[in-house]
Amino acid sequence: MMEKFNALVIADVDGKPQASFKELGLGDLPDLDVLVEVACSTLNYKDGLAVSGKQKIARKPPLIGGIDLAGKVVESASPDWAVGDRVVVNGWGLSEVHNGGYSRYQRVKPEWIVRLPDAISFEQAMAIGTAGYTAALCVNALERWGAITPGSGDVLVTGAAGGVGSVAIALLASAGYRVTASTGRQSEAEYLRGLGASEIIDRATLSEKGPPLQKERWAGAVDSVGSVTLANVLSQTVYGGAVAACGLAGGADLPATVLPHILRGVALLGVDSVMAPHALRAAAWSRLEKDLDFDKLSAMTTVEPMSRLPELAVDILAGKIRGRVVIDVT
Ligand code: NDP
Repeated sequence: MMEKFNALVIADVDGKPQASFKELGLGDLPDLDVLVEVACSTLNYKDGLAVSGKQKIARKPPLIGGIDLAGKVVESASPDWAVGDRVVVNGWGLSEVHNGGYSRYQRVKPEWIVRLPDAISFEQAMAIGTAGYTAALCVNALERWGAITPGSGDVLVTGAAGGVGSVAIALLASAGYRVTASTGRQSEAEYLRGLGASEIIDRATLSEKGPPLQKERWAGAVDSVGSVTLANVLSQTVYGGAVAACGLAGGADLPATVLPHILRGVALLGVDSVMAPHALRAAAWSRLEKDLDFDKLSAMTTVEPMSRLPELAVDILAGKIRGRVVIDVT
C-alpha cells in the first residue's frame, strides 16, 4: 500500500467551501471497518457544486470530496467483506458528512457497499456513477408504478445530454422504449440518437410556463431539470402516467398545479439516490448490468485525471459536460 497519496479535500475557509489537493496517509482516513483501494471516482452535478464551492455540500469540513468510489477491498473488519472484493459506493453522505472518493484510499462502512457485478469494470462502474445509478432508479420507479411498459407510449428524458439523461436514454432504449430527448444542445442530436433517442426536442419548448393541462404526450418521463420544465412535463403526461423527478439543474422550485394529478391521475415519483435502501440499489445495479449497452456507455464517457477536477466542476455546473466523466485517482 502507498504510504502517501493525493486527495482533493474540501475545507472551510472564512465560511466558504474551498477545494485543494493534499497529501494524506492512511492515518488521515476515518476509523471505519472497510479500507478500499480506490480505482476511480467520477464527477456528478453535486460534485460540481462541492468542488467549485458554489454550494456548501461538505457539511462537516474538512472532507475528502467525491460522492462515488469504485475499487478493491484491501482490509476488512467486517464479516461481509473480504480482501479482494470488488465494490462500489454511491452516496450515503460521501463528501457531505463522510470522506469521499477523490482519494487513492478510503475507509467506508460495510453497509454502504454494493458488490460490483463481475461484468462491470471499475471504470464502467464510475462511468455509471451516481448519475447513472440514479437514472436506473428512475426507470425502475416508473416501471414499478406501472406507468410504462415498452409499447405504452413515448418516454421523455429531460437534461438529455447530461449524465442522468444520457444513461436514462441508453437504458430505456435498450429495454425497448421509444425515447424522446429534451436538450438545449441541438449540436448533440446525433450523440443522443446514438444512445437510442428516437426524437429530439428543444428544451426551450418546456422552459416557458404553460397551461396546467396540455396535450397528453408522455407515458412517463425522467426529469433531472425541475422547475418550470417539470411543471410542463407533468402537464403533458398522459392519463395514469408518471414522472420520476430526480434533479434540479433548472431550479429547485416547482411552479405547478394539482390538475394533472387529480384529473389525469398523473404520479410524481421522487427519486433519491443518497439514502436509497439496499434493495433499490441492488435492483438498479442489476438492471444496469442487464440492460445497459456498454458500447453506448463508453461513447458517453471521458476519463480525466484528478488534477482537472476544479475546472471540470465549473464546466458541469455550466451544462457543458456531455454524458459522464470518470476521475482517475491513481
Ligand atoms: P449534468 O450537468 O450532467 O446534466 C444536467 C443537464 O441538465 C445538462 O447537461 C443540461 O442538459 C440540462 N440543464 C442544465 N441547466 C439547465 C437549465 N437551466 N434548464 C434546463 N436544462 C438544464 O448533471 P447530472 O446529470 O449529474 O445531474 C442532473 C441533476 O440530477 C442535477 O440537478 C443533480 O443534482 C440531480 N441528481 C440527483 C440525484 C438524486 O439522488 N436525486 C442523483 C444524481 C443527480 P442539455 O444540455 O441536454 O439540455
